[in-house]
Amino acid sequence: MLATRLYGREDVRLEDVPDVVPDAGEIRLKVAHNGLCGSDLHMYFHSGANQRQPFVLGHEISGVIDSLGAGVTGVKPGTPVAVRPFLTCTHCDSCDRGLDHLCATPEILGCGAAQGGGLAEYCIARADMVFPLPQQVSLEHGALVEPMAVAYHGITRGDVERGMSVVVFGAGPIGVGVLLGLRALGITDVLVIEPSAARRAAIAALGATGVLDPASGDVVAAVQAHTMGRGADVVFECAGAIASFAQALAVARVRGKVVILAVYESQIEWNPYTIGRKEIELRAARAYQPGVYEAVIKLMADGHYPTAGWVEHIPWTALVEQGFKPLRRGERMKVLVDLER
Ligand SMILES: [Zn+2]
Ligand SMILES: [Zn+2]
Repeated sequence: MLATRLYGREDVRLEDVPDVVPDAGEIRLKVAHNGLCGSDLHMYFHSGANQRQPFVLGHEISGVIDSLGAGVTGVKPGTPVAVRPFLTCTHCDSCDRGLDHLCATPEILGCGAAQGGGLAEYCIARADMVFPLPQQVSLEHGALVEPMAVAYHGITRGDVERGMSVVVFGAGPIGVGVLLGLRALGITDVLVIEPSAARRAAIAALGATGVLDPASGDVVAAVQAHTMGRGADVVFECAGAIASFAQALAVARVRGKVVILAVYESQIEWNPYTIGRKEIELRAARAYQPGVYEAVIKLMADGHYPTAGWVEHIPWTALVEQGFKPLRRGERMKVLVDLER
């Protein structure tokens, strides 16, 4: 079968690899779409030598069940599914607590796992990692479940309630996912802070209450003005910049919450008194705890995740030129690779 494997920095190869075969308890999928995300860019542009290379990339996967390993019941070939790419150990403290997304020794499909990833004709997943898509949810949406689940999990970490004022830093795919998830839950007051004009336009069209360019004004004053001087009840930091971290703390209301979804490339120096002064709760969200995939798929079935203006498709052979490179330049938001040709 064909697969895209990462060999090292800026070295991916679309090549023939041995066919994957499902073991007991596993399912083989014919991959339909695979989304590209920031961690793929990081692996492609920054990865050093790694004993797992070459490995198949791709962890935002949708496809159709192709064959079943021994003992798999309850699903059948031909079923369209989204894949939750975490191969968890099932017995560490986190797994025992029902927090398998924080497993001590996770393998993640497309991130070095021996089982491969989504940039391949076929991929393997354990039966508990596949989520059937109802008729109203397309395979295109299926590949968006993973990033939208990251965003939705962040929302649940923020304990947002209707009527609250929310600020989102960053209008990349995760910021978009936070906005769409909030709106699906009936939270309508969402200000978005984003330096890119194209991204501001895209997220405004998706229903943000307002968009602000941090370069063209005082973000803190603007949020204060918008919230009658109180500040935001909940802030989602999806930008990962030094400035956005500081501003996220600054715009939060007394006893407000700041949820960190971003991955930071650099160290940040900050004084904990910036949260102490307002008794801000600083929380973090990583991936998606059990139950989030089901919730997102249901909201997708109800039409809460429009793709216009932020999702684009590219052919598999154009992975680098139309995917990684323009994504790194900030020219695209979410790119789905179409595996079927
Ligand atoms: Zn991702
Ligand atoms: Zn575990």
